[in-house]
Amino acid sequence: MSQYDYDLFVVGAGSGGVRAGRMSAGFGARVGMCEDMRVGGTCVMRGCVPKKLLVYGAHFHEEIEDARAYGWNVDAKSATLDWPHLIAKKDAELQRLEGVYHSILGNAGVELLNGRGKLIDAHTIEVASDTDRKTVTAEKILITTGGWPSMPDIPGIEHVITSNEALDLKDLPGRMVIVGGGYIAVEFAGVFNGAGVEVTEIIRAPNILRGFDEDVRNHLRAEMEKKGITIRSETVIDSIERTAGGYTLTVNGGEVLETDLVMYATGRTPKTDNLGLEDVGIEIDRARAIVVDDHYQTSVENIYALGDVTNRVNLTPVALAEGMALANSLYNNTPTTMDYDFIPSAVFSHPPIGSVGLTEEQAQKEMGPIDVYVSTFKPMKHTLSGRDEKGLMKLIVEQKTDRVVGLHMVGPDTPEIAQGFAVAMKAGATKAHFDATVGIHPTAAEELVTMREKTR
Ligand code: NDP
Repeated sequence: MSQYDYDLFVVGAGSGGVRAGRMSAGFGARVGMCEDMRVGGTCVMRGCVPKKLLVYGAHFHEEIEDARAYGWNVDAKSATLDWPHLIAKKDAELQRLEGVYHSILGNAGVELLNGRGKLIDAHTIEVASDTDRKTVTAEKILITTGGWPSMPDIPGIEHVITSNEALDLKDLPGRMVIVGGGYIAVEFAGVFNGAGVEVTEIIRAPNILRGFDEDVRNHLRAEMEKKGITIRSETVIDSIERTAGGYTLTVNGGEVLETDLVMYATGRTPKTDNLGLEDVGIEIDRARAIVVDDHYQTSVENIYALGDVTNRVNLTPVALAEGMALANSLYNNTPTTMDYDFIPSAVFSHPPIGSVGLTEEQAQKEMGPIDVYVSTFKPMKHTLSGRDEKGLMKLIVEQKTDRVVGLHMVGPDTPEIAQGFAVAMKAGATKAHFDATVGIHPTAAEELVTMREKTR
């Protein structure tokens, strides 16, 4: 018998931790896990899943309007969204998923402890809840505590909400300011605009979505503005004051803005506080992320970390893949490292973005000469609906190899389209392969295999 209570103890039951824990248990390891919030973590409880349900819910008004244009006798003007109903349905689904997660862990033989984990030494973890405190030991420890919204320290910041609270709003405000231009800000701007809120997005930079392809950033911004979202660039909030009816923001050194609710989506910080990491000698970088090597090993030999707490590629499917790689390496005699190239991603803005590989700007920096193909088009559905919405498709091709190194889209269903093309790009597809592929007509995706004329 081992001298420890567990072979592996996982601190944090989010996507990465649950996957690593249950796979390790499946390979025969004795696994314990602790969580002080709801099992499922950011993605299932406070991120991807509830967000996407609200994205669906918020946009039916456009379907109703479009249906009228197609001859349906529906009164689009009298259609209203019962927001509390949507929130209640979303909550019921999260409850169901939480149950599923508990059964998955239970069936795999993972012992789940309710409480917050803290390292006492390299093999000992204290798990503490409001009612209980327990110490366990493990041969190996995995830290998967994820991240948490971070906000600048300005006067009045205590009045704002983050995505955590936005997903649980009891009532919709009339007006709302969303601060930030990243994934979360543009996604929630779409949700609340769709739900009928007058949304102003405030960004400190000239444009939204830093790091995304320039054409995509410009295209999405224009589409969001057409739908009625106000985007204020190069605007810095100095302070926030609560008033009788809402909030007053002082921006850019004196200008005053009134609103009913303020949401901050200004990035996320790895959740590494009060875990005892420094005490056992685990290295943490300047962004408070745990430093790991290619095998998710921290600076302490038997302690590992993966997912958002390592602040590398902060996406659920990446944490899942990292969790599987670790379980295979540790308990299945299959040392596995992850390949981070060509990770597809989506932004569930309205309209959404689907993207794989390098942006034009990255490709210009990292490769030799490139060819760029860009096409904007009106989705066929809107020829009859008359909706003023355009799609964008873009390919970036390395001249030397003819390999398609970047693919970026804005428009309905583009996250679904990106997934299939990501397989081809991972397999090394060239522009010649794209050209030799027969399109599916009429679809938006066929645009990607019929781009013959270089844009630049
Ligand atoms: P991001 O890092 O994507 O964006 C942060 C935004 O906040 C940027 O626009 C940044 O501006 C701005 N910002 C940062 N600090 C300040 C400040 N002090 N004052 C004003 N603005 C500020 O963070 P998110 O919170 O949107 O998302 C966190 C992560 O979650 C993402 O990186 C992503 O990995 C993940 N995610 C993925 C989703 C998906 O896959 N669909 C959905 C949601 C989240 P600037 O550009 O000027 O730096």
